[in-house]
Amino acid sequence: MTKIYNYIDGKFVDPSNGGTIDVFNPANGSVYATAPDSDSNDIQGAVDAATAAFSSWATTSSEERSKIMLKIADLIDENIEELAMAESIDNGKPYWLAKKIDIPRASSNFRFFAHACTQFASEAHETVEHSAINYTLRKPIGVVACISPWNLPLYLFTWKIAPALAAGNTVIAKPSEVTPMTAYMLCDICTKAGLPKGVLNVVHGYGHKVGDAINRHVAIKAISFTGSTKVGSEIASIAAPMFKKISLELGGKNPTLIFADCNYDNMLEHVVRSSFSNQGQICLCGSKIYIEQTIYEKFKLDFVRRVQELKVGHPADPTSKIGAVVSQPHMNKILSYIELAQAEGGTILCGGQQIKPEGYENGWYISPTVIEGLGPDCRTNKEEIFGPLVTIAPFITEDEVLALSNNSDYGLSCSIWTENLSRAHRLARDIQVGIIWVNTWLLRDLRTPFGGMKNSGVGREGGWEALRFFTDAKNVCIKF
Ligand code: NAD
Repeated sequence: MTKIYNYIDGKFVDPSNGGTIDVFNPANGSVYATAPDSDSNDIQGAVDAATAAFSSWATTSSEERSKIMLKIADLIDENIEELAMAESIDNGKPYWLAKKIDIPRASSNFRFFAHACTQFASEAHETVEHSAINYTLRKPIGVVACISPWNLPLYLFTWKIAPALAAGNTVIAKPSEVTPMTAYMLCDICTKAGLPKGVLNVVHGYGHKVGDAINRHVAIKAISFTGSTKVGSEIASIAAPMFKKISLELGGKNPTLIFADCNYDNMLEHVVRSSFSNQGQICLCGSKIYIEQTIYEKFKLDFVRRVQELKVGHPADPTSKIGAVVSQPHMNKILSYIELAQAEGGTILCGGQQIKPEGYENGWYISPTVIEGLGPDCRTNKEEIFGPLVTIAPFITEDEVLALSNNSDYGLSCSIWTENLSRAHRLARDIQVGIIWVNTWLLRDLRTPFGGMKNSGVGREGGWEALRFFTDAKNVCIKF
C-alpha cells in the first residue's frame, strides 16, 4: 500500500487532520494507495508557503526558471516507465497509451513553457500625436491555483502548473482525488530539479473540501480549472465576488461530421480512435457521429466491425486497446446511460455491457458501445457521458448537419471529415466550438489556443493565452 503525502513548502507532509482517502486500481477494483483527505488548514499552510516564496520566484530571471523547468522535463522523460505504470494503475488506461501519450506530453508541457517564458515579449505603442510611448509590463499574479481532473492526470496537471510557474507565480495545485499518484511523484522530481521550496505546493483531497477552500481563499488570486461544467459553474460563482481570475475548461459533447467525399479509410481509423481513446474519457472525444446518408450503411458496418475488434482488457496487457474506466461510480453512470439510450429508443449495435476479464472480474470494464436510432434532443445525445459510448445518425445536407452540431449546450470541439476544402472552411467558421479538426483528431500544437464555448468553458489555455492568463498586464504611458 503506497501512502501519498501533501507537498507543502518543499516537504512531504500528512494533512493536518491525519485523514486519508482510498485510492483504487480500476483494473481489479482494489485499494492500492491512500491519499491525504486534506482540508482548509492544509490550504492555509500551502498559501503561507506560496506567499513566502512568491517575491523571490517572481523576480527569478526567466532563464533561470526555464532551466529548472527543463530539468523537470528531463526527469519526467528519465522516469517515463515508472510514471506511465503509475498512471495506468491509478487511472485504468492502457500502459502503452500512458507511455506513448500522457507522460511524453507532461514533459512537453514543461519544455514548451520553459522556452515560451523566455520569449514572452510585451507590446509597445508609440502614440505619435501626443509624443508618448506606451508599453505593457506582464507581471505574475501571485499565488494561483490549478485544479485538475482524473482523465489525463499528469498531462493536464502539468498543462496548468507549467505556464503558471513559467510566468513567475507560486502555485497551489490540487489533482483529482481519484488519480493522485503521478502528481505526487512529480513533486519529488521538482525537488530534484531544484525548484525552490514553496513555489509549487500540492494539496490532495476532495473537491468539496480542498477545492472549496481554494475557491474561497482570498489570497489565491487566480484559478485554472479543468473538470465538469457543474463544478466550473460553482467555482465561477464563488470566485466572482472576490474578482479572481478564472480559466474554466469544462465538459463537452462533441460532434464528428463525416461526408461521403472524405478519405474513407483514413477517416475510419481515426474515428475509431476519436470515439474510444482512453475508454472515451477525453473531453475531446467525438460522442455524436453524423454520417452523410449515402455512406451511412457502409460506415455502420465497417465501424461496428472495427469497434468489435478493439480488445478490452487489463491495462498492462500490450494488446489491450481499451482498459478499465476510472471508478465504480463512473462505470455505473455509463451503464445507466446505456440503459437510458435503450429506453429512449436507441438500438445497440455493439457493446453495451460490463465486461469481466478473467482474473480481473472485480475491475471496471465496459465494452465499446455504438448506438443508433436516437433523435438529437434525447438525453443520450445532449448530456456528457464521458465513456466508451457513441451514437451514430445519418444526415442529408450540410445545413442540416451544421444545425445538428450547433444544437448543443456544449461547444468544445468538432472533427470534420471531407476532401471539400470550401465546405471545411465554411463549417469551421460556423460551428460553435473552440477547437475544430479537419481530417484529423487531437492533433495538438501547444502554441495554439485551447478551450471551449458555451457550457464548455471560459478562457483559453495554450501558448501565449496561458501566459497571458497567468500574468497581469500593466500599461505604462510615458510622455516625452
Ligand atoms: P470534476 O469537476 O468532478 O473534478 C475536477 C477537479 O475538481 C477534481 O480535482 C475535483 O476534486 C475538483 N473539484 C470537485 N468539486 C470541486 C469544488 N467544489 N471546488 C473546486 N474543485 C472541485 O471532474 P472530473 O470528474 O474529475 O473530470 C471529468 C470532467 O472533466 C468531464 O466533464 C470532462 O469533460 C472534463 N474535462 C474537460 C477538459 C477540457 O479541457 N475542457 C479536459 C479534461 C476533462
